[in-house]
Amino acid sequence: MNSTTLYADVILPIPLAQLFTYNIPSELNGEVAIGKRVVVPFGSKKLYTAIVKDIHENAPADYETKPVLSILDSFPIIDRIQFQFWEWISQYYQCTIGEVYKAALPSGMKLESQTRILLNTEFVAHGRLSASEEQILNILSHSKDASIQDLNQITKLKNTLPQVKSLLDKGAIIVEEQLQKSYREKTQKIVNLNPQITESLLSETLDQLGRAKKQQEVLMCYLNLSKCFIEPTPHKVKLTELLKSSGTSHSIVNSLVKKNILEISEEKIDRLDFTEIKAGQAHPLNPHQSTAYKHIIQQFEEKNCVLLHGVTSSGKTEIYIHLIRKYIEAGQQVLYLLPEIALTTQIIHRLQRVFGNKVGVYHSKFNDAERVEIWNNIHQNDPNKTYQVVLGVRSSIFLPFHNLGLIIIDEEHENTYKQFDPAPRYHARDAALVLAQKHGAKTLLGTATPAIESYYNARKGKYGLVELTQRYQNIQLPEILIANTREARRKKIMKSIFTPMLYDHIREALEMNEQVILFQNRRGFAPYIECKECGWVPHCENCDVSLTYHRFNNKLECHYCGYSTYPPNGCSQCESTSLEDRGYGTEKIEEELLGLFPEAKIGRMDLDTTRSKRAYEKIIASFEQKKLDILIGTQMVSKGLDFDNVSVVGIMNADNMLNYPDFRAYERSYQLMAQVAGRAGRKHKQGKVIIQTNDPKHPIIKDVLRNNYLNMYKMQMEEREEYIYPPFYRMISITLKHKDQRKLNQAGLQFGSALRKIFGIRIFGPQAPLINRIQNFYLLKIILKIESKSSPAKAKWILNREANTIKSKAEFKSLQIHFDVDPL
Ligand code: ADP
Ligand code: ZN
Ligand code: ZN
Repeated sequence: MNSTTLYADVILPIPLAQLFTYNIPSELNGEVAIGKRVVVPFGSKKLYTAIVKDIHENAPADYETKPVLSILDSFPIIDRIQFQFWEWISQYYQCTIGEVYKAALPSGMKLESQTRILLNTEFVAHGRLSASEEQILNILSHSKDASIQDLNQITKLKNTLPQVKSLLDKGAIIVEEQLQKSYREKTQKIVNLNPQITESLLSETLDQLGRAKKQQEVLMCYLNLSKCFIEPTPHKVKLTELLKSSGTSHSIVNSLVKKNILEISEEKIDRLDFTEIKAGQAHPLNPHQSTAYKHIIQQFEEKNCVLLHGVTSSGKTEIYIHLIRKYIEAGQQVLYLLPEIALTTQIIHRLQRVFGNKVGVYHSKFNDAERVEIWNNIHQNDPNKTYQVVLGVRSSIFLPFHNLGLIIIDEEHENTYKQFDPAPRYHARDAALVLAQKHGAKTLLGTATPAIESYYNARKGKYGLVELTQRYQNIQLPEILIANTREARRKKIMKSIFTPMLYDHIREALEMNEQVILFQNRRGFAPYIECKECGWVPHCENCDVSLTYHRFNNKLECHYCGYSTYPPNGCSQCESTSLEDRGYGTEKIEEELLGLFPEAKIGRMDLDTTRSKRAYEKIIASFEQKKLDILIGTQMVSKGLDFDNVSVVGIMNADNMLNYPDFRAYERSYQLMAQVAGRAGRKHKQGKVIIQTNDPKHPIIKDVLRNNYLNMYKMQMEEREEYIYPPFYRMISITLKHKDQRKLNQAGLQFGSALRKIFGIRIFGPQAPLINRIQNFYLLKIILKIESKSSPAKAKWILNREANTIKSKAEFKSLQIHFDVDPL
């Protein structure tokens, strides 16, 4: 055997910049490989799952290495392209590679000593378990949950990670996630005849039921469905099936179970279902769509990225489907990115209709076990089993693709593609372009309202540009009407929060059995409450923001840190008891509508109503099936949803979008309004959009009214150039955080002047942001704007260096600095 000691440089899932070197015990020499996960000790007690980045023979000069404890994978799980991609993200977005690793893998794949483990109560062992695995299951069966560290202590095994991993693979245990504690296996109930009832005993059994006619019927129905005694193996009968075809209730079936005639068992359903869905045909494209399709293909000859600018309902999705088919047939994978989970539920059906079970979905409403399964599915790289199209939200750019041919980024303008917190603060669209390049793949951006940056790139020829100006079947774009709220208020003709114009249109739509969508960019009942006497407003204890009132649980809630409290009985300043709510969110719209249209069936889609996994699907399905007349929602309803009976869309308050203090506010308001408007319109009738505003002459409202994207773009470009913003300049936003405001201000001044010495007038701030305290941390912002032609790499290097310098000063020990590159 080789006697030289090998060393591994590994990536740990922690925000420290460097790689860490461990020695490899000689018995593991043959197993260790770049891209495999290994278990390593860190600090005095902790264990982490790390990823091997490099293997070499150079012992570090300045410290004693600790050993790799075990190797978790038989094959590497991270390949060269992924490593390169991680490195790009870490450099471009100024974060550590450990932070990228953390974001890239589902938590079940990066166990650490603090990870909490639970028993899967529905687990049935198939193969043999090792003694230590048995021991762990035994411990878990006596306690609700345990951390891996606890298991190490109780079992005295020093390191139980490999056993935990093996038990996870077998489905015997579950990794608890902080956000998603409600993990449950998907199961179905199966009905069986008690095996002791043989054919000869059957008539006796039926007689026995004598006067219980219903029970007899159910039993007969079961016999019919199962074909037992007719076919050698009876068919499997699901409880739901039996209830449906016998038209009876649970209690009847239960009485048969009590009489020991029927039995009910639970059966696990495979979460990733590979059966039954058959592939079908794509819709043929109409002439406009076909031309667009051909242009896209042509432009891909020369360009890596094409922007498809097509009005809402022009059939962009149909074009994507044809492109996907082309790439799949050539044996390549396609990644289809969507900005919002809500959208996946509609698109998945359209894709499955054509591609059957070649379609996988990946998003955060899946629990971790499901995410690991999808990860593994894509990693196995078996053309017969691996998904060929993956539909996913931004984090799916980290999936282990082998053979990516095309990335589609639908609704590319959406800001949900950018991750705000924690690091890596990446933009999935921009990162996807880099990923595509590494795979030699093409990227298609699609939208009705391109991001200014994307349109700019397309106009100057960096991207190809394909325009689609006709809606499918020439359905007209909706008519847009402006409702002047200021005037209606002055004339005192508002119906609560509705102008007469909007009210009348809702009423008419309801009378005609047509549907209505109402958009308001705020959830909750009221954005704040206020003392009528002295103007006092309740604020969050931990943040510098007013608390939003939620009526459903009668609580005041902070939308930044989650703090909540009951509304006070009186003012805390003047003791007056007249507190009033101000402004309105989606919840209040719902309540007001119920008063005005008591007959209407109303649904609401916002963060509060979509916390559970299937919530989106349910709301969207009820609206599609016309079980709801009105759908109220936040920006969730603005994006690519496709309904065919919506005749009226109301934008409740355009002003709070337009007045938002941000250089992108106008662009975003245009996009939001144009997108929500796009939800209106039906096959045989032009839809209507009513925009409520105090400022009908606002230039952005005028652009929306005339559907004039180009004018909006030109005006914005003038402003961006004049006020030095992207796409003419690159921006990096630097946030300083500290619990002590005085220290923060000192640090801000020092850091600001250090940067100003280097970057001169390109530095703006330090300045307190609009909300200057979140979760008890005070915040300061410094902005760097550099010419877009200059390379940002050097600037970033300097920023990192200066940040480290200031953080290393004793007085700023607990100062935090983070970078947001290309902030939104
Ligand atoms: P977009 O993605 O541009 O908003 P969609 O692809 O969702 O547009 O198309 C809008 C509607 O028109 C959908 O219901 C879609 O099924 C239908 N549609 C579009 N193109 C076709 C086509 N070529 N054949 C059949 N239906 C189509
Ligand atoms: Zn008061
Ligand atoms: Zn708060």
